[in-house]
Amino acid sequence: MYEQLSIKNKLTKAHTQNYRNVFALNRNAAGFNKEMKEIVYTLVCDRTDGPFVYDLDENEYIDLTMGFGSILFGHNYAPIREAIEKQLQISWSVGPISPLAGKLSAEISKATGVQRVAFFNSGTEAVMVALRLAKAITHKKYFVFFKGAYHGTFDTLLSLKTDPVTHLAKEIVPGVTQSILNESYLLEYGAEESLEFIKNHKDEIAAVLTEPVQSRNPAFQPREYLQELRNVTEENDIALIFDEVITGFRVDIGGSQQHFGVQADIVTYGKVIGGGLPIGIVAGKARFLDATDGGFWQYGDDSVPLVKATFVAGTFCHHPLAMASALKVLEILNQSEGKILRDLNETTANFCARLNAYFDDNQYPLSVHQFASLFRFQTPGRLSLLYYQLLLNGVYVWEGRNCFLSPAHNPSVLADLEAKIHTSCEQLEDQGILKRSKIGHGKAIGIE
Ligand code: PMP
Repeated sequence: MYEQLSIKNKLTKAHTQNYRNVFALNRNAAGFNKEMKEIVYTLVCDRTDGPFVYDLDENEYIDLTMGFGSILFGHNYAPIREAIEKQLQISWSVGPISPLAGKLSAEISKATGVQRVAFFNSGTEAVMVALRLAKAITHKKYFVFFKGAYHGTFDTLLSLKTDPVTHLAKEIVPGVTQSILNESYLLEYGAEESLEFIKNHKDEIAAVLTEPVQSRNPAFQPREYLQELRNVTEENDIALIFDEVITGFRVDIGGSQQHFGVQADIVTYGKVIGGGLPIGIVAGKARFLDATDGGFWQYGDDSVPLVKATFVAGTFCHHPLAMASALKVLEILNQSEGKILRDLNETTANFCARLNAYFDDNQYPLSVHQFASLFRFQTPGRLSLLYYQLLLNGVYVWEGRNCFLSPAHNPSVLADLEAKIHTSCEQLEDQGILKRSKIGHGKAIGIE
């Protein structure tokens, strides 16, 4: 496999090697180990279309990465491209605010039920601001996040380990020192003890931050737990923050809030709503969003901003191209009244069910777990070679392994994709890498 991939990805490897000394890219060393060194690189592609990406060697891959979930309709989708092109003719400058930003805030409010909306550039930035707003309004300084979640790269969230005594997140990432984690409680998701902990520390906790369904564990969809979190936070003046950077505008137009029937205080969005352009959104109740600008006032009377605002800003925060693209995404979703999402989610569920049946029938200790149009392979141990075998067979999954389908993955593409996954499993079995096991999918020991 190593030699075959090296031949197939010859130009990607040459490119990676040529620029390594100057281009610092962690993905080019992701999962590095010495034995696999020859196939450690990230794919370099200069063309994308529908469900496909094309690498420098002109190989075609069925894309399961889909812009890390930012491309909902498929690559190079004409209506989005045209909306961006149209705006490009008008202006792509920042400085004075684009009229599209106000319009988009109103559309998002209509679609999701949030009262107010603020724009940033990435999910990371949105999460960072959401926590700041919660602290500013509650006048408390700690927050809770949960094991297994990914919220981007804001320092206070970069840990996977908890101190067993204090329950504070522990320093594990070089450069993210303990002092920056000393207001971050990292608790077990779905656990009753976590609810107890929150109640017991209510006077110091400003916010509970959660990905309602964690992208790394899409099978866990804790409807009741989210309701309990809502109750506990509401009773104790703690902001409930839903990080919907992945689930927003995906599971439904109204995201997880609509799907689970739980209204958060603050919601973060990104990815899908940007139509492939960089965006991060903080939205939610006026009580919290008012900490951005002091709250509502009007001309012609004696009203003034009454809330003490914190500080938020950013050069590219309302970039006209991202605003135009996002408006088009919403327009398309609204026009279909959510049907595009429902159909895509159903297609993904059926696709995953067929794969799981295949794994079961063949006693492969593999499974796929799904939520909306997101799915992940569960593999025994860390069977990363699966992804390399898939790459060899023309399926692209990025290093973080979250997979997404789009409407561009039509029935014939999906049939091809399934065949490629089957072939990959058989080839891994032939190489002695994948072993049949009576334990069955999802029950294998040491699952990733
Ligand atoms: N929150 C969640 C749930 C995410 O999945 C991500 C990114 N995958 C982020 C936040 C960070 O978003 P970004 O990469 O745009 O900073």
